[in-house]
This record gives sequence, structure tokens and C-alpha cells, in this order.
Amino acid sequence: MSYIIGIDLGGTNMVAALTYKNETIIAREKTETMADSGFANVVRRLAELVQRLMDGAGVSCRQVEGIGIGVPGYLNMMSGVVHFSPNFTGWTEVPLVDELHKHISLPVYIVNDVNAHALGEYRFGAGRGAEHIAVLALGTGVGGGLILDGRLYAGSTEGGGELGHIVVDPDGPRCECGCYGCLEAFAKAQAIADRTAMKLQQGKRSLIPGMVDGDIRSITPAVVAQAAEAGDQTAIEVWDEVGMYVGIAAAGLIQALSPQVIVIGGGIAGAGRFLMDPIRRTVETRALLVPASTCRLELSPLGDDAGLLGAISLVIEKR
Ligand SMILES: [Zn+2]
Repeated sequence: MSYIIGIDLGGTNMVAALTYKNETIIAREKTETMADSGFANVVRRLAELVQRLMDGAGVSCRQVEGIGIGVPGYLNMMSGVVHFSPNFTGWTEVPLVDELHKHISLPVYIVNDVNAHALGEYRFGAGRGAEHIAVLALGTGVGGGLILDGRLYAGSTEGGGELGHIVVDPDGPRCECGCYGCLEAFAKAQAIADRTAMKLQQGKRSLIPGMVDGDIRSITPAVVAQAAEAGDQTAIEVWDEVGMYVGIAAAGLIQALSPQVIVIGGGIAGAGRFLMDPIRRTVETRALLVPASTCRLELSPLGDDAGLLGAISLVIEKR
């Protein structure tokens, strides 16, 4: 039982990885999720992916300790039921673990994808050695995950840890959750693109229009990061503002939870120091009672593998 399988079940692709002796990914397989093809079909594709992964590595079920799956959405880890996932058509109260057991006789555990990211950081990433960590995953949305006292924390509803919906400005824009001024409304990819476009429309000089052939609707955070790297003041201003909002949330987390480390991950973390410097500046001026110096602020070192490694961690946690 030296092997563990971790799966990152995304709305577009599903990726499965096989680890040997907890640590090293020795094989991986990827296929399209086909999220609109119905629950039973997605589960069948998952089972086929697992089988292909094991066959390719010459590993049998008897050698595998279990399967961990990171799933976007609101779910119950104990019952293995996904209450709702916005990424999958018709996934309301679906018994994911039971359905997968019709195809594979291995222990299967599920966890929300951002919580998987938090588990990955805790065991393999920036949170190694810490007992209290918070993860902010900045991407299409802003996800959050908490490890407190060495355990995943999701509160009384199992739905807690939604750090992207901490309000950082009561007069801010409307968030998809219905509230106003959530961190997500400022720090998700589209919000960063919109903020940049607005500055350009106000006539700010910038390299960005040239980088997107004049089509400001095609601005992405990666373009804004590239422009900042080239010394573009408008792009740097965007990151300063976005980082300030992330910093306000981070300072609040430090006061409420006193974590040893806050990890910033997700695709937008690719902006690196342009994002992290204003986060640090803001935290230093706002984390006072529980001082900023008690908490490290770090970029995720795991990149795209954070969710996979977290799904693997989940199986290790169950020992
Ligand atoms: Zn919100």
C-alpha cells in the first residue's frame, strides 16, 4: 500500500497523479472533464482515468491506499455528497463517493478544491512545519482554505473558510455572492482586468494597449503582470491597489486567527512581487494588535500541483 492517487477535478480537465511513499509524483494522467455530460458520465470518466493511471504505472488496486479528490463546490466530506458545484451541470446533492465505488473498490475521499490546496500547502508547500495556515487562491474567483491546529477547518456548516468573501470595502462593487465589496470583487481575474481597462479609459499612459493589439477587453492579469515587469506605471498601480485589498483581508485574518503563514496562490500569484509587496506593506500598517511580524506571507511554491498534492494529503490525513 505504498501508492496514493490524488485527483484535481476541474470544470475543464481532470488530472490524476500517483505518488509513491507519500512524497513523489511518479505518474500522471489528464483528460477532459466534459462537465456538461452528466454526473454518471463524469464519474465514469474519473474511474477510467484512475484505471489508465494505474495500468500505465503497472500498479494494482491492492497496492493503492486510497484516492483523494479535490472538487470545486460545496460538499460534505463525511458523506461524500457534493451538495452543489457551479462548474458541473446538474450536480445538486450528487453522491460522488458512492457512485465512484460502483467502478473502483478503493477508499475514496473528497474535499473542496481550495481546501485541497490548503492541505497541499500544509503538507508539501509553504505551510510545511506550521500548524496554523491560511490560503488565499486568486484566480477566476478567490478561494480560501484554513488549517488550524493542524486540521482542515470548515466550521459548523462544512462550508467555512470562504476567505474570498471577507468584505474589504463596504462600498465596493457587487460580488457574485450577492454581497458588496468582497475581496473576490477586487482580486479575481476579471476584476483586475476591469480595473486596468478603467484606468486606460481614463487616459492613463501604458504599454498594455500595445500588448493586446488595442483590444482592452482581452486584458488578463498575466498581461498586467508582464507590463509591470516592463516598468509600466499603470500596471504597477493596478497591482498596488489589488494588493492593498488582499492585504486588508490578510491583516484581518492575522487578527482573527494568528496563523503562522498566509499563502497566496492561484494563477494571479504569477504577478509575484508586484502583488506581494503591496500586500506586505498593507499588512505591516494594519496588523497591529497581533503584529504583522508573527505571520509569514508567502507565494505558493506548488503552482498548478497544489490541488493534486492536497488531494493526496487528504488520504494521508485519513490514516
Ligand atoms: Zn462575495
